[in-house]
Amino acid sequence: MNKVINVAIDGPAGAGKSTISKAAAAKLGYIYIDTGALYRTVGLNALRKGADVKDAESVVSTLTDDLKIELKFIDGEQRMFLCGEDVSKEIRTPEASMAASAVSAVPEVRKYLFDLQKNLAASNNCIMDGRDIGTVVLPDADVKIFLTASPEARAKRRHLELTEKGIETKYDDVLADMIERDYNDSHRAIAPLKKADDAVLADTSDINLEESIELIISIIEGKI
Ligand code: C5P
Repeated sequence: MNKVINVAIDGPAGAGKSTISKAAAAKLGYIYIDTGALYRTVGLNALRKGADVKDAESVVSTLTDDLKIELKFIDGEQRMFLCGEDVSKEIRTPEASMAASAVSAVPEVRKYLFDLQKNLAASNNCIMDGRDIGTVVLPDADVKIFLTASPEARAKRRHLELTEKGIETKYDDVLADMIERDYNDSHRAIAPLKKADDAVLADTSDINLEESIELIISIIEGKI
């Protein structure tokens, strides 16, 4: 078997990781793996089982032997299945986001999802995005990118996105939320968000989406 190509893309919330990674993967003919969806599915399962997602012991008690979390590709789209049920939509609710964030700080959860991520990367040319892909999950990835933008630029985009969806928010609140999440993600004890030493820094504060996609593709092509 030919060696597969693994690209790790990490970065803070709102940097456009999933949109950019998805588009770059489509252009390169790789699969795109969104690891946040795995944490969201574990979070949803914990919620459904009535666990206290802020309590590590309670979260661990939901990782039972009969728990089945599967990531499948249907028409090229990643879908998440929880014990056979397609939960791809449900994991996007604000409740599931909060639960994902809480359960992702539990070491047993990270360990639980580790092999699944490793196995996917071992058999596919892929772009995998998350928070700890270049540092923990795929430390030997062929290409590592740390995709970021200033909190102001990320908040501006998120604010516009929400406004377009008809959800009224204040820019200042979105910015404050962004800064708080950055702090939580980069200060947690396990697998904190940080740039791998050998990752290329891509800052998209002053470039648009198309330019960001071109930048990521050129970094990948320059390395492989
Ligand atoms: O990327 P997304 O926002 O969908 O991730 C959901 C949650 O899962 C985030 O709060 C993030 O902290 C966590 N996560 C993680 N490690 C990853 C991917 C996501 O801790 N590799």
